[in-house]
Amino acid sequence: MLDILQEKGGVNALFMGTFSYGTGITGRQLAGHPFPDHGIQQYQDFSKGHGGDYATPHMEFYKDTALKPEKAPDYGNVDCLELVLPAARKRGMKVFAWSEDVFGPSIPGIEKFQERDLYGKNAQTVCFNNPDTHKFWLALQEDLVKSYDIDGIMWGSERYGAFGNMVESVHNRNGNDPAHVTCFCTFCQEKAKARGVDVARAFEGFHSLEKWVRSCRGGERPNDGYYVTLWRILFRYPEILAWETMWNDSVHETYEAIYKQTKSIRPEAQVGWHVWHALSFSPFFRAQTDLTKMSDYSDYLKITVYNNLGCTRMETYITSTRNPVYGDMTIEEALEFEYRIMNLRERGYAELPYTGLSPDYVYRETKRTVEDVKGTKTQIWPGLDVDIANVDLQFSRSSPPVVSACTKECFRGGGTGLVISRKYSEMKLANLAAVGDALREIGVA
Ligand SMILES: [Zn+2]
Repeated sequence: MLDILQEKGGVNALFMGTFSYGTGITGRQLAGHPFPDHGIQQYQDFSKGHGGDYATPHMEFYKDTALKPEKAPDYGNVDCLELVLPAARKRGMKVFAWSEDVFGPSIPGIEKFQERDLYGKNAQTVCFNNPDTHKFWLALQEDLVKSYDIDGIMWGSERYGAFGNMVESVHNRNGNDPAHVTCFCTFCQEKAKARGVDVARAFEGFHSLEKWVRSCRGGERPNDGYYVTLWRILFRYPEILAWETMWNDSVHETYEAIYKQTKSIRPEAQVGWHVWHALSFSPFFRAQTDLTKMSDYSDYLKITVYNNLGCTRMETYITSTRNPVYGDMTIEEALEFEYRIMNLRERGYAELPYTGLSPDYVYRETKRTVEDVKGTKTQIWPGLDVDIANVDLQFSRSSPPVVSACTKECFRGGGTGLVISRKYSEMKLANLAAVGDALREIGVA
């Protein structure tokens, strides 16, 4: 497999899916999607359980946190880093440990670390403001950097705060349940108080927003207009925005703490982040994600520029957010407005899922993020879509000419590398080879 990656894909570094309970970065092809033309033709076997630490958790690192890691049960005792490191070294390839903020329900006592929604119910996600969760993320990275001769780490969190979860979604066309948004746990309440936020007013504000989102989705047009009424709620309850800022600050405090810790252990280790796709779609998330500021604690950023999956996600995003935010416009107008404010030029609403976002999208997003971190140490390595399982089989898929064009746009936009995404078990060899051929053509491999 490493020979294939190196020879066909021009790959010089591996991002090993080391910690996750999700299926996006680890394991085999997602059920219902075509098998790749290599490896075992089998879907993931969930009967033995799924997810956790695919390396080996060394428990001495987790003494100070009640949240303990589990060894992923999927592949017996196989330690993915131990297995791959010597083989990668032999080929001159770097190895990064890639872990993501996706938990499952199997960890004993996980309820204590989970986020709480507006009504105090547990979510599947864990809270950044729970001290044990914070210590867990640091312990995991310490374990990886001290126990393995890796070249760097990547960590990522594909999530929003409560405001984002109420008004928009990248995954759910009908939007999320506005009651089941996070986090309102006691740790978050304490932190808000310490930041001078009136907790009772924040709850009142979110309840008011919840009611309004429900009425918009129920087909009621606010008499003064959708856009105006949203702003009326935000003016009346600025605590909503303060709460959202706190949620995002907590994610960034995690980045910063991991960065500082890793650099203190091994300064030469490269530390970076997977920045999720909402950066392309959501003006709110883009506003919250200041890459210039992030450059203080980022050696590199993997900016998600998945062009095929991006088209269905864009369609989903604008559909989900239309009623609460852009209900005064037609969906076509809302999409056009979205393209204008996000500086994109892509297809219309009906065509979008079938065409994919264009190589120009990859170029614009790369260039914009490169400009954001200009003059800093941070490198931009866009995450390139190679056969990422799209929502529906009839929607846009990867093909060698488009993969080749997108690969070149990553570098024309100023990227100094790219991350072939998401996982090898999704990729077809012809599309992988299109990356390698393009890299060789422009002289970077
Ligand atoms: Zn919380």
